[in-house]
Amino acid sequence: MIDLTVEHVEATVREDIERTCWGCGLRLLLPSNTPIFKCGWCGAITNQHAQKRIDKSLWWRRWRDRCFVSVVSLFMLCILCGGVWAVYPVVFSISYVSGVFHCLVTAVLAVSTFTTFGLAAFRCAGRPPNIQWGSYPVVGKGDLEDYTFCLYCCKPKSPRSHHCRSCGMCIEDMDHHCPFIGNCVGATNHRHFIIFLISTLISTAYVAIMCSYAGWHIWPPLMFTSLARPYTFASGSASRVVRELSRALLGSAMLLSTRGIILVYLIVSSVSVQMGLTVLLWQQLCYIYEGQTYLSHLSSGAGGGSGERDCQNLVRFFSCPYSFSRYLPFFRSSRKRHRK
Ligand SMILES: [Zn+2]
Ligand SMILES: [Zn+2]
Ligand SMILES: [Zn+2]
Repeated sequence: MIDLTVEHVEATVREDIERTCWGCGLRLLLPSNTPIFKCGWCGAITNQHAQKRIDKSLWWRRWRDRCFVSVVSLFMLCILCGGVWAVYPVVFSISYVSGVFHCLVTAVLAVSTFTTFGLAAFRCAGRPPNIQWGSYPVVGKGDLEDYTFCLYCCKPKSPRSHHCRSCGMCIEDMDHHCPFIGNCVGATNHRHFIIFLISTLISTAYVAIMCSYAGWHIWPPLMFTSLARPYTFASGSASRVVRELSRALLGSAMLLSTRGIILVYLIVSSVSVQMGLTVLLWQQLCYIYEGQTYLSHLSSGAGGGSGERDCQNLVRFFSCPYSFSRYLPFFRSSRKRHRK
């Protein structure tokens, strides 16, 4: 019996292989069939089969992002300049005071939209802090808890970070990579991104309203044929009325000036942008309410996980931590969760 036990132990020991933890450099004795292990000292997770990766298509993604940012910037400038050119002569012709008022509103909306766009697009989305790693005396117990090794950056990657192949770096609290701002949405610029969406929504709503108002004043008169006589209108079927109305609208649209055509284009484009951004903003606010990011939502599964759904997450996201929440102790007790 004793001999058998000794043989068994010897066989088990022979199967163990020495592995090195990338986090602290300590050597660990592990079974040979363990490709991924967690260090008992520093807490780093090592995948022994992983190899360094080189992203050869990084330049193409950067070039694509720069094109997108240029197109979006040009589009916003066109909406602004086109709106001012098409709307303001009409507004000033009605009343000088309302013209000045609308100039001020336009300036405020343009500054807020362009500023938040610049901050979201050109500010680093969230560079992970530099952390000591690689040698045992330097790395303390639990210093690299649940850290993995980024095979692109060749650096430690915290559980809250994600490597973005378009930005070519790890991003803290990454939500998603947005091609329209040519940047990731992460810990540093997430708030600017949301304020940019809100500002754009308000601006496009304002553009649509003002263009409709100006279009109403300069639209050529409708030319009815049979519907010109009231009794014909009353006795006509609904489909005939719609047909006649469409024909009259199209007929008058043919007489539109260049200003009128620009106004129609501005209304259509601003309403289209608004519909897309409303869906995006609603989705983003839902994730913030749940205390998650888009990526953490994906990793938590289709059920959405057991997130702390709380309005405090929204308050913490938008408010300054030293202004509002310091007077309300219960705000401090809740922590935004970021699960990967
Ligand atoms: Zn270790
Ligand atoms: Zn990385
Ligand atoms: Zn990115």
